[in-house]
Amino acid sequence: MSRRTPTPRPSSPLSGLARVLAVLVCVVLGLLLLVGLGDAASIQGLRGLFGSRQATIGLVAGHWQNDSGAVCPDGLQEVEITLDVTRRVASLLRRQGYEVQVLPEYASQLDGFRAEAFLAIHADSCVELSGFKIARLTQAEEPTQGALLVETLERAYAEATGLQPHPDTITDDMRQYHALHRIAPETPGAIIEIGFLGGDRYLLTAEPERVAVGIANGLMAFLRQQTPTPAGD
Ligand SMILES: [Zn+2]
Repeated sequence: MSRRTPTPRPSSPLSGLARVLAVLVCVVLGLLLLVGLGDAASIQGLRGLFGSRQATIGLVAGHWQNDSGAVCPDGLQEVEITLDVTRRVASLLRRQGYEVQVLPEYASQLDGFRAEAFLAIHADSCVELSGFKIARLTQAEEPTQGALLVETLERAYAEATGLQPHPDTITDDMRQYHALHRIAPETPGAIIEIGFLGGDRYLLTAEPERVAVGIANGLMAFLRQQTPTPAGD
């Protein structure tokens, strides 16, 4: 009569758990690789995959829920254009994982509004001029970030739309734009006039996606420059 010696079990619950963990690690690494290869803006891609952060970008659709803005003789209203473009910009950014808030012209949330970037989107009057303008508060408390935001947006917008900056007609109304006074002083903010309803009418009415891509690219380029980079810059 022999007693059977207990043989070691081939697998313990622990090693089963280890296998599950190993598979999980592989899946996560695979996703990281996929995101890294598929999109140069891998940080934003990851935000999209693993949930986005707090309100990152605030957009004002110029004149929305307040008035029509500029009006052309045939009835085309500035607010139709600004709302359409703003919604397109928001959708492009959300697809990249950013949290976006679209606000009406005089939203109560503007008081002390905090975001990593803020932009009000307007269009210029119905005259036969062409060009876009971007401005920030004349006496912004955070001049460096605001200047960088304007500069980055200008480059991306000109590239996407082919429009030239039209700085001659930047008015004090733009530099003293009400919403820029209301947002939190540390929020980098600007206002863009995306083109003239007159001279740039084709771009604004027939190619709004190009307009939106220019703005979204500019905002993303700005935010990428805010992301701390490893030593050596
Ligand atoms: Zn306007």
